[in-house]
Amino acid sequence: MKNRNYRSNFLVGFLAVVLAFSLDVNSQKAKTGIDDGQKASAINSEQLLKDVKYLSSDQLRGREAGTPDSRIARQHILERFLELRLPSIGRTHLQEFTFTARNKKTVEAANVIGFVKGAKNPKRYIVITAHYDHVGVRRGEIYNGADDNASGTAALMAFAKYFKNNPPNNTILFVALDAEEKGLQGARFFVDNLPMKQESILLNINMDMISRSDKNELYTAGLYHYPKFKPHLDAIQNKAKIKLLYGHDRPELKGNDWTFQSDHGVFHRRKIPFLYFGVEDHKDYHKPSDVFENIQPKFYVNAVETILMAIKEIDEHYQKQ
Ligand SMILES: [Zn+2]
Repeated sequence: MKNRNYRSNFLVGFLAVVLAFSLDVNSQKAKTGIDDGQKASAINSEQLLKDVKYLSSDQLRGREAGTPDSRIARQHILERFLELRLPSIGRTHLQEFTFTARNKKTVEAANVIGFVKGAKNPKRYIVITAHYDHVGVRRGEIYNGADDNASGTAALMAFAKYFKNNPPNNTILFVALDAEEKGLQGARFFVDNLPMKQESILLNINMDMISRSDKNELYTAGLYHYPKFKPHLDAIQNKAKIKLLYGHDRPELKGNDWTFQSDHGVFHRRKIPFLYFGVEDHKDYHKPSDVFENIQPKFYVNAVETILMAIKEIDEHYQKQ
């Protein structure tokens, strides 16, 4: 009997533990948004804004490459990739490198890299990039870098979660680049040390400053150089809740030619196709006033949804070997 009672008590106790654990796992899963059964279909805008707010907070003191503040930002991205159980390309998710800054000092930096394997073409790659560094503290003032480029970095993490739940056809690499503000250093190191054959890269999709536009306009630069991608952007035009404009990529535009003004330029120099998404410069560009309070959440979420549609459209099109 005792046994029976003991067994039934044990069973009740055991079931309680299992239930508690699974509740905990579920709350964990709920927290990370991963639910193996259910396919997440939209961007978690609350998380997106939370990430921008944190990355551009005074606590991270403008995330200058080589500083402890930049390492905190790096850790935040790394933890997200680990939470999402994104595999790493190398031994770790950190691609560490050093470079010599303008003041001749050696700077230690690191890109953070994770990927989602393609279901149909695991050996063909879409490389999504966003730089997570900014200019730090100048003359005692923090340059928070909310739009530049906490916005692109948060979108990169949101896409990692989305494609983790919705495996793409091609393998997608998520690369948070360091030291863009110090001469595109993270992109240079990545492209100089490609973890795959160059010709297996379909394109680089770079995001830099995507969270505010008084004219509700998001630009795509790169179609002048790589017109083959235009039909895929045309295909999402009427679904986008913002104006998706093409341009800022013709040489004759000189200063208004963005081809080499952010990390995608390094890919282009190496003849790796790119599409760059970004807004036109605003009054707070590279000022201490580029803060979370000045981004435009509605525009931002719509911009991120639009870029996601573009990535899916391209991935869908290039699904055959
Ligand atoms: Zn930037």
